[in-house]
Amino acid sequence: MQGTVARAGSFGGMVADFCWPPACLVCGTSLQSAKTLICDECDAAVCPHGVVCRRCGSGMGPVAPGGGTPGGRTGGVCRDCREHEPTFVQARSYGPHVAPLSSMIYHLKYRHRPALGPFLAARLAAVLRAAEWDDVDAIVPVPTTWWRRWRRGYNQAEVLARELGVLTDLPVLPRVVMRRHGASQVGADYARRAQNVRGQFRVTRSRDLLHQRVLLVDDVLTTGATAQEVAATIMAAGARKVYLVTLTSTGRAQRRA
Ligand SMILES: [Zn+2]
Ligand SMILES: [Zn+2]
Repeated sequence: MQGTVARAGSFGGMVADFCWPPACLVCGTSLQSAKTLICDECDAAVCPHGVVCRRCGSGMGPVAPGGGTPGGRTGGVCRDCREHEPTFVQARSYGPHVAPLSSMIYHLKYRHRPALGPFLAARLAAVLRAAEWDDVDAIVPVPTTWWRRWRRGYNQAEVLARELGVLTDLPVLPRVVMRRHGASQVGADYARRAQNVRGQFRVTRSRDLLHQRVLLVDDVLTTGATAQEVAATIMAAGARKVYLVTLTSTGRAQRRA
């Protein structure tokens, strides 16, 4: 349980609460307090991963009969990682991309709800504790284009990174990597995504990344093509290693679609 989610305390928010009684963003249930965004039931229904790929952290299905893991014969590494070895040393996500967590991400990303940031970042902090990545030096959000940032008003990965920085006391480097405008990745397969993002990122201050162990933060891991390209850009700037943490990751079937 992470507790309830604080609403944005703006005047507009207060007016909206007066006109429309507060309801859970996910299920629409009336909320007792105007200070919350998610009801306790939806909060409790967020589902973490079971068995995951040792490398990319994607779910690998239920535990196999006899107690073995589905990836046991291949060292716990999924087919995607065997076919496209990740640039990051390890990636982990909180859970599969299913409701209610996927709905929360949708509201953070497309319905202008940055107030979900602290609540969702607490999930990321839980992932970090479980992963035991104790040597991280700095947090870097996966950058978006200036156009998308302007249109949305913020970069959701940066919102998560900043909140995670508060929770972990790690420095956040929000603008150390920039992204050029490019084609949308929605619906594209791995090959198309990898082609779309090639050369799209550039480092603005290499000295901030030199010899650093970087934790890359994003909301969702889909094919991993974007995260791979950012990680490669950071490594090329002299970083020692890159970890990746996301809220959700899609299943292998979806990733290959
Ligand atoms: Zn709810
Ligand atoms: Zn994997």
